[in-house]
Amino acid sequence: MKNIIIFGAPGSGKGTYSDEIVSRYNMGHISTGDVLRGEIKNGTELGKIADGYIQNGQLIPDELMINILAKTYDAMPAGKGVIFDGFPRTIAQAEALKQMLAERKHDMGVMIELVVDEETLLARLLNRAKEQGRADDNEETIKKRFAVYHNQTAPLAEWFEKEGMRNTFTWKGSKEQMLSEIFAFLDKQ
Ligand code: ATP
Ligand code: MG
Repeated sequence: MKNIIIFGAPGSGKGTYSDEIVSRYNMGHISTGDVLRGEIKNGTELGKIADGYIQNGQLIPDELMINILAKTYDAMPAGKGVIFDGFPRTIAQAEALKQMLAERKHDMGVMIELVVDEETLLARLLNRAKEQGRADDNEETIKKRFAVYHNQTAPLAEWFEKEGMRNTFTWKGSKEQMLSEIFAFLDKQ
């Protein structure tokens, strides 16, 4: 399988669909949110820096994030495609990813955009707050994350469009339907 970039607002299902895609196509998976939460849990220097940004609903600075991503990517088993979940989130990150992959003679692959209405997103995140207790899943931080998404991340969809990589899937109320549309598309890649 080619590389896949999964893109969407907080709560759009990036992690959920990534897991399904990984098991169907036997790919590698990089979730930058999970990487950062692991660092926080282990009390590393990086974790200490990341914690403040995450609790505030802000993005980790690009330069730091790009370095983490490159390190994580280079530690993945070679030869399989990788699904990028939660990266890139800014134009600078997208440009850096493009350059990093070009340097390694790897293809960027395809981008999957998950479009979900905001009411559904909020309900999902509040529900996840009860189930998983993530530090950033409270109403105040969620609102900040939505604003960051609209201002810094959403404009990236156009960037992918220009790269000819954008493939949009819109939530219509059923995970099964969404998954079968995504699989039908990926089966052709
Ligand atoms: P979901 O997991 O439901 O899609 P999300 O996209 O908000 O929600 P994560 O991807 O887990 O959650 O990211 C959590 C937080 O980690 C972000 O709010 C941000 O602070 C930080 N983070 C993750 N990826 C990046 C990135 N590429 N650049 C900067 N910060 C990041
Ligand atoms: Mg996630």
